[in-house]
Amino acid sequence: MKALISIDYTNDFIATDGALTTGQAGQAIENEMVNLTRTFIEQKDFVVFAIDAHEPDDKYHPENKLFPPHNIIGTHGQNLFGSLKQLYIANQTNPQVYWMNKHHYSAFSGTDLDLRLRERNITEIHLTGVCTDICVLHTAVDAYNLNYQIVVHQHAVASFDPVGHSWALKHFQNTLGADESFYTGR
Ligand code: ZN
Repeated sequence: MKALISIDYTNDFIATDGALTTGQAGQAIENEMVNLTRTFIEQKDFVVFAIDAHEPDDKYHPENKLFPPHNIIGTHGQNLFGSLKQLYIANQTNPQVYWMNKHHYSAFSGTDLDLRLRERNITEIHLTGVCTDICVLHTAVDAYNLNYQIVVHQHAVASFDPVGHSWALKHFQNTLGADESFYTGR
């Protein structure tokens, strides 16, 4: 069984005026994100929206020293970007679609993702979203350590940093044993 993990495709990370935006690099993968997500939903596979979620004025969070405030829970910045938002809204009551707030880079850190996958006998996870070299990377490393097979969709991941993006794509394949997919949803 397989699942799609859709990481941080929110206004703050994608919109031109987002607090921590990947800009055009992130905007360029919108169609691929939507097509892949729709395909997984239609195939009745498990789809997880693993979305960065910060409390306002959380003085203990380690990202405070690194980044400006972003993805504050319940704000426009934490909403999904563009047509992925419409697709999520149309499917949010589908029990196979799971919105999961996450508080660190990895979708596994402090969440019940591993349990949700194991109870469904899911062994293969497909990664999409941003940033290739931060949240997608940390999620992939945790997935590797938990013995999941990883598929990274090259046309559905992006970063503000092209060097980091290219490095991470190589790392997925050469060090984490990931399959690189060039699949186009439609
Ligand atoms: Zn964050």
